[in-house]
Amino acid sequence: MTDRSLVCTILGAHDLRVEAAASRPLQAHEVRLRLGAGGICGSDLHYFNEGRVGAFVIREPLVPGHEASGVVVELGSAVTRVRQGQKVAINPSHPCGRCDYCRDGRFNLCRSMFFLGSASVFPHAQGLFREAIVIGEAQLTPIDEPEISLGEIACAEPLSIGLHAVRRAGEVLGKTVFITGGGTIGCMSVIAARMAGAARVIVCDINARALQMARSVGADAAVPVGGDDLVALADSADVAIEAAGSPAALETCLATVRRGGRIVQVGTLPARVDFPANSIMVRELDYVGGFRAEREFDLAVQAIRTRRADVRPLITAQLPLSRAREAFELALDRTKITKVQLVAG
Ligand code: ZN
Repeated sequence: MTDRSLVCTILGAHDLRVEAAASRPLQAHEVRLRLGAGGICGSDLHYFNEGRVGAFVIREPLVPGHEASGVVVELGSAVTRVRQGQKVAINPSHPCGRCDYCRDGRFNLCRSMFFLGSASVFPHAQGLFREAIVIGEAQLTPIDEPEISLGEIACAEPLSIGLHAVRRAGEVLGKTVFITGGGTIGCMSVIAARMAGAARVIVCDINARALQMARSVGADAAVPVGGDDLVALADSADVAIEAAGSPAALETCLATVRRGGRIVQVGTLPARVDFPANSIMVRELDYVGGFRAEREFDLAVQAIRTRRADVRPLITAQLPLSRAREAFELALDRTKITKVQLVAG
């Protein structure tokens, strides 16, 4: 199959195109997939809106997309991990396996990371918003459960981010976990915190719909910004996960976590922020980062295929790739949308 198929490309801020392109022949360990579902992530939206995500700037046409599932349509001559027709989860992360971080097991910090759909390297790592995907078999996990949809499988990557954030939080068994942001990553962090045995999970957001979504995936409480409920939580949470990527949310985490507690920064903040930094010192807080995921991807796939993590409520809409621009515009509206996915067509 080397027919032409649709590819979504971002050339700069608000310059998104969907065009037909030829797919290349397979190497021995490569697999050709038909796109199953591809979720539009906050970072894809940053590329669409600003032509950049933090320090990662688009310098050549970029195919976005790093959270996707597919269906196997063609196998390279040496492929053994998957069979024709199988549904697969796609791990967008391809660490080098040789650098000091990889050898230390911290694959997400790899010095030569090739992460699909990212402008962090040049030439850019082209992503998954394309009808025909060519990818190495090592990045695929087959899913044979007939009842698990391609949309759910595409949620493995964002779930892995939540699982990694909770791992960075340390032991949460029996503890209170406070999460800022009820979007996809906040909700995945809710699911992950419950899987890790948190006694109480509380989500804070400015948006009523996001709060409702957080409850629907298992938050014990969901509190709006600026209310008495939030004030009453001051100095009470053992752990906070900042998944909103906003300085105000970070400040809320600093006020809500107990003395000696830990904050995990998983949302992308503006390049420079003003926040009450001395509270880290005087309240002896641990402030740590959570970036992408490492081995949690396999755990996420396992949780989705068994529905121990039920991600179905998060998938708000699916649009064909040919309507990618409309899908991106839709995904920007947090009052209506949690996760928008692109599907083939
Ligand atoms: Zn490496």
